[in-house]
Amino acid sequence: SKLVQGLSKTRNSIAHGIDAIFSGFSSIDDDFYEELEETLIMADLGINTTTAIIENLREKVKENKIKDPSECRQLLINSMMEQMQLSENAYDFETRKSVVLLIGVNGVGKTTSVGKLAGQMKEQGKKVMVAAADTFRAAAIEQLTEWAHRANVDIIAQKEGSDPAAVIYDAVTAAKSRNVDILLCDTAGRLHNKKNLMEELKKINRVIEREYPEAYRETLVVLDGTTGQNALAQAKEFNEVADITGIVLTKLDGTAKGGIAIAIQSELGIPVKYIGIGEKIDDLQKFNANDFINALFQ
Ligand code: GDP
Repeated sequence: SKLVQGLSKTRNSIAHGIDAIFSGFSSIDDDFYEELEETLIMADLGINTTTAIIENLREKVKENKIKDPSECRQLLINSMMEQMQLSENAYDFETRKSVVLLIGVNGVGKTTSVGKLAGQMKEQGKKVMVAAADTFRAAAIEQLTEWAHRANVDIIAQKEGSDPAAVIYDAVTAAKSRNVDILLCDTAGRLHNKKNLMEELKKINRVIEREYPEAYRETLVVLDGTTGQNALAQAKEFNEVADITGIVLTKLDGTAKGGIAIAIQSELGIPVKYIGIGEKIDDLQKFNANDFINALFQ
C-alpha cells in the first residue's frame, strides 16, 4: 500500500534492525534488551517512549514465560501499539462547520498540508475555504493561491505583511456568509519570538470567537518528520503557546526516523492526526497507530 511504501525508510531501520536482533540472539537477556533499546532510539522513538516499550515487553515476556527471542516480535509490536493508544483520534472538524488553524515553523509543510487537506475535503463533497494568514512570506500566499486554484476552493488573502488577524476576520466572515463547511487557515509560526506568536494566536482566536462562535475549532501543529527529536521539541514549545488539538507530521517518506510519530503521540499525549508521506494530494493520510505500526512491520 501507499502507507507501506511511504514508510519504507523507517521500516528498513526499525523492522529490519529488530528482526536482525530477534534472529541474532538465542536467549532473552540484558544484551538482547539493550540492542532492542538502541534500535528503537536510533529510529527516534526517544528515550522515554523506548524505555516504556521495553519495560512493557519485559513484563509480557515474563508473564507468558517466553524463552525464544523470535517469539518476542509480536509482543514488541503489541507493546508499541499499547504505548500509542490514546482515546481514538477524533476528526470532528471533518463533520461539522469548522475553523482549523495550521501552525508551525517555516518549511515544515504547512502550506502544502493546507492545500492537500483542502483538496481531499473538496473531493469528499465539502464546501472548503482556505485563508492565507501566513502573511509573513509572500511565497506562502502565492503557493496557497496555487493550491486553492488546483483544488477549486475559495481563498481569502491579503498582501504580504498585512495583519494575519485581519485576514482571519475576512475569512471567517466570508466562511459564515457563504455557508462554508471547513475553513482551513495557514498561519505564520515564528517560534523564536514566542511572545509575539502567542499574542498573534490570541488575537486570531479572539476574532474567530467573536465573529464565528458557533464554529468548531481545531489547532493543528505541523512538524517536519525528518527533523526527529527536534520535531518533538517544537511540539512541546507550541504546546506552551497554543491549545493544540492535533499534529500533522510531514515528510515521513524522507526519513528512517519515523518512530518520532510514536514518541510524539505517547510522550505528549497529543494525537497525530495526519501524516505526510509524499508531495501529492493523496500523500497526506489520516494517522492510525495500528496501521502505522503494522506498516512498519510488514
Ligand atoms: P511551510 O513553510 O511550512 O508552509 O512549508 P511548505 O508547505 O512550503 O513545504 C515545504 C516543502 O516540503 C515543500 O517543498 C513541500 O512540497 C515539501 N513537503 C511537504 N510535505 C511533504 C511530505 O509529506 N513529503 C515530502 N516528501 N515533501 C513534503
